[in-house]
Amino acid sequence: MDENKEYCPFCRADLQGPPIPKEIQHHYGATHGSRKIGIYSREEDRVIKWQCLYCKQEWEREK
Ligand SMILES: [Zn+2]
Repeated sequence: MDENKEYCPFCRADLQGPPIPKEIQHHYGATHGSRKIGIYSREEDRVIKWQCLYCKQEWEREK
């Protein structure tokens, strides 16, 4: 069905976390957790980049 898998663009590690219980999915806006790390920008007050938990590479966040 919803194959919304996430992979690291560098090492291709599977970044999809465990499923989020249906009752609290609306808090996350997603059906699964994520293993990637958000890089927060204080100036922009938002997450601007992601970092891979495994290889520590960073990439731009898509809108
Ligand atoms: Zn990686």
